[in-house]
Amino acid sequence: MFKGILIEKDDEGYRASVQQIDDSVLPEGDVTIAVDYSTLNYKDALAITGKGPVVRSFPMIPGIDLVGTVEQSDSDKFKPGDKVLLNGFGVGELHCGGLAQKARLKSEWLIPLPEKFSAKQAMSIGTAGYTAMLCVMALEKNGVTPDKGKILVTGANGGVGSFAIALLTKLGYSVVASTGRVDESDYLKKLGASEIIDRATLSEPGRPLGKEQWAGAVDTVGSHTLANVCAGLQYNGTVAACGLAQGFDLPVTVMPFILRGVTLAGVDSVMRPLNERIEAWGRLAELLDESVFDDISKLITLDDAITTADDLISGRVRGRVVVNVGAA
Ligand code: NDP
Repeated sequence: MFKGILIEKDDEGYRASVQQIDDSVLPEGDVTIAVDYSTLNYKDALAITGKGPVVRSFPMIPGIDLVGTVEQSDSDKFKPGDKVLLNGFGVGELHCGGLAQKARLKSEWLIPLPEKFSAKQAMSIGTAGYTAMLCVMALEKNGVTPDKGKILVTGANGGVGSFAIALLTKLGYSVVASTGRVDESDYLKKLGASEIIDRATLSEPGRPLGKEQWAGAVDTVGSHTLANVCAGLQYNGTVAACGLAQGFDLPVTVMPFILRGVTLAGVDSVMRPLNERIEAWGRLAELLDESVFDDISKLITLDDAITTADDLISGRVRGRVVVNVGAA
């Protein structure tokens, strides 16, 4: 038995609780891991609260990220004692995840914990920070360089938004942060944002084309916001779109694409091949300063995770939440 969050769905409904879980709940896998830290991403909060159709097999241990120590391995890639990192691959959705003290996973999903990071720091980054890095890489791939103009980051106080601001600033970009919490401007400026705008300026239906304001954007919000971002990009601008915090709809016209050569670059972190993950984590190791972790993340225990998931879905959490799973 081991401690963790279990999501169940039956005649009594959908519920998540912290409990002692029997080893038999763990699925097939060639590596068994003692989990040290996990995180709460937006997707984990959707899974725990049942507010989104994230979990597709029951009972399920949520947690799309983990860092842990290999306990037992049938793979020649990992041996007991190795520190490993997991992001995505359907873990916490289809395959039991990181919000429990034990996990059994497929070795092909794991990467060694990058040397630069402690377990806690890696989970401060988690899928959110790794996705922010993928978004920045998508901008770079599409030729968005710091001299081209400002970069807009939406959902700025969230996990992806916070890391996107820190990474872009480190790379020399001038960052405009869009947020519903302008009272958190000091936090956003500390991360590097040079300008803060109220997200209400982007969240309502807008015109097919607007003033050319940004050379690039990282959008975590979707819906009208993403449509307005497309309409406000400069000629040849790119938006890296990864999220749906406002909605999964996209009420956009073709005008920004056919008149301004705008690129809408979709970013998925979940099924990203291993070599691209290793590249992204390498870039994170290169770019992130130690100080950023204390600014961006807070630490909770498994017992706090369910109420914190509610707070996260309600937009009351700033930055990242690290879960100290190993703590009793
Ligand atoms: P967080 O909950 O940490 O942040 C989301 C932020 O979005 C909030 O902090 C808030 O920022 C903003 N927001 C919330 N509700 C609304 C709303 N109704 N309208 C406009 N803005 C809103 O989530 P994450 O940063 O972890 O994830 C952000 C998004 O990216 C999520 O949709 C998530 O599912 C997606 N995602 C996708 C990945 C992929 O692989 N494609 C990987 C990781 C995340 P503020 O208060 O500053 O306005």
